[in-house]
Amino acid sequence: MVAKKGKLITTEGDGILEQTFQKYRLLKQEVDKWQQERKTYWLNTLNLADNPPYLPILDLPSEAIIELWQRLNTLAKVEISDSELRIMWEKFIKSENVMDADMSTRFQMALNGVAHIAGEMAYQKGVPASDDPQGITFCPVCGEASTLAVLTPPTGKRIMHCTMCDFEWSVKRVGCLYCGSEDSKQQIFLKDETFPGIEMAVCQICGQYFKEIDGRELTVRDYLWEDLRTLPLNYATELWLTEHWKKSNQIH
Ligand SMILES: [Zn+2]
Ligand SMILES: [Zn+2]
Repeated sequence: MVAKKGKLITTEGDGILEQTFQKYRLLKQEVDKWQQERKTYWLNTLNLADNPPYLPILDLPSEAIIELWQRLNTLAKVEISDSELRIMWEKFIKSENVMDADMSTRFQMALNGVAHIAGEMAYQKGVPASDDPQGITFCPVCGEASTLAVLTPPTGKRIMHCTMCDFEWSVKRVGCLYCGSEDSKQQIFLKDETFPGIEMAVCQICGQYFKEIDGRELTVRDYLWEDLRTLPLNYATELWLTEHWKKSNQIH
């Protein structure tokens, strides 16, 4: 059975991507350095729950997040006290965002850096993913929603990848991961030739989509960056949905 294919048109982002990447790369290097030095210490403080999500991000040790966050602030030459960061973290927990864009990026990178330790711990313990098909797109470790699937070599087995904690889990190969529809005629795979090895899998029943990286065509080292780099595909898919799916669903 041949999957339905469609074309996406993305727009160029005049050099912004390159600037963003340079900023990201410097922060990521610092995160990696921190992990090398501090991972063993923080690993010993983490406890996984008996059921998914095994370690939701709001339960990560705030001291670890602040420690790494402060390193990233120092790198960016931003002076701020630990207690001010603690207040921001508490506001984040209450969904009150008080950070400017750069502070928010450093915070997200710190959160990622600590969540990766939890993800690695879950790997080492071999925790099972959720057996609830409704929740299959939620990371069993940190509980965040994932919109990134990977077809792994050599057979193309499909897994979900969590860009927050780096955990991966197996999912079914055919059909929609959101509404569970197995009708392959209702799945359409959109691609843009400027992003080889990546397709956007859109479900025409529920109107949701995920990004699918074919690991047999494209080797990815940093999935978070890959997801950010290919955000134009998400925007183009939203537009495609507005033009094709939402319109036709209003008519009926
Ligand atoms: Zn996760
Ligand atoms: Zn669906």
